[in-house]
Amino acid sequence: MTTHTPFDNAMQQLSTAASLMQLDMNIHRILQAPDRVVEVSIPVRMDSGDVRVFTGYRSQYNNALGVYKGGIRYHPDVTIDEVKALSFWMAIKCATVNIPLGGAKGGVIVNPKELSTGELERLSRGYMQKMWPVLGSDKDVPAPDVYTTPEIMNWMREEYESIVGHADPGVITGKPVEQGGSEGRSYATAQGGYYCVRELSTKMNWTPSETTIAIQGFGNAGAHMAEILSRDGYRVVALSDSQGGIYDETGIDIVAAQQVKQAEGLARYIVDHPSAHIITNEALLQLPVHILVPAALENVITEVNADSVQAQAIVELANGPTTPEADIVLRSRGITVIPDVLANAGGVTVSYFEWDQNVKGEHWLEAEVLSKLETIMVAAFHDVWNTADRYSVDLRTAAFVGAIERIAKKMNQQ
Ligand code: GLU
Repeated sequence: MTTHTPFDNAMQQLSTAASLMQLDMNIHRILQAPDRVVEVSIPVRMDSGDVRVFTGYRSQYNNALGVYKGGIRYHPDVTIDEVKALSFWMAIKCATVNIPLGGAKGGVIVNPKELSTGELERLSRGYMQKMWPVLGSDKDVPAPDVYTTPEIMNWMREEYESIVGHADPGVITGKPVEQGGSEGRSYATAQGGYYCVRELSTKMNWTPSETTIAIQGFGNAGAHMAEILSRDGYRVVALSDSQGGIYDETGIDIVAAQQVKQAEGLARYIVDHPSAHIITNEALLQLPVHILVPAALENVITEVNADSVQAQAIVELANGPTTPEADIVLRSRGITVIPDVLANAGGVTVSYFEWDQNVKGEHWLEAEVLSKLETIMVAAFHDVWNTADRYSVDLRTAAFVGAIERIAKKMNQQ
């Protein structure tokens, strides 16, 4: 198997779109590297008294459409290559849903599950102590990503404000609602993904109760997605986290699954639900469902398993779950892929609303946030769908073409 890094994959997606749209060679060249990458060492006093030094990154990819924007990931497998890819995808994502923001991403190489709350706070404040010169509500605005939380966002915002000496709540989004966060931000990624599922189901003539869904990943995005879909009558039949998954053809009780996950782990679910059984993460990807939702990490659908995918459609709540080689296989097999840059754009869209509220000193009601999010997601969904029809390409390439058109137009004006 050829192994490509996430950034290789991102650049291959860029090339595919660039040749289809006959993108100006100079713009293509500029889009082949981030504007700036910052690497910092973060010394943290551990509870034991020893100092450990963590590596942190921020990749600012492109700001043609607005300030750099994108989350910060805490994960032991973070690499600079991955952060660069994720920052590129953020630029494409913001342009896909047509919000005035650029693309960036941050990461720290750490397993946050091994840190105490105090250590996590010192690490997060330490990240900001090193990174603050390149951040700000008018420069680059981070947010949560894998294993980072509203509480972490608030520590970073406090640290930033104390360093620069003035309030700047819009320096970071995904804050707790009581601390300047937006209503609806905590579940916005899933909510945006839900609008995509709904529009897709209508296109396919599937009613919610007959639509079966498997979700890989039970973090912020996956867990909220399961909850929202089952509340709307969709049949969520499989779920998994990093430990493994459960499958029940008759449908999973999401509230019960959430309770057991917190107490003893997802596997415990099968004890009280005889029709459910344990499955591996790999088996989940190959279930005969209407919709497969990867909601964890990159590179889970590859040339090795793309032939075994039995879902009729894939809605990518994770960033970069499908490799370009797998995309080709899926397309030849007639499997519809709603790409990450569209399917998971609900998160950054509500981040944009949060930043906008902070800058204007406003606080919008949840209903207002949701109706604005729905308008943006539904418009982007049909925009991408129509572009795909026009060029006879897959939805990812269509999203990239539309997004790059917007970015290139702005770059030319500048
Ligand atoms: N980390 C999320 C993403 O990958 C959200 C980014 C943001 O809100 O800025 O889209």
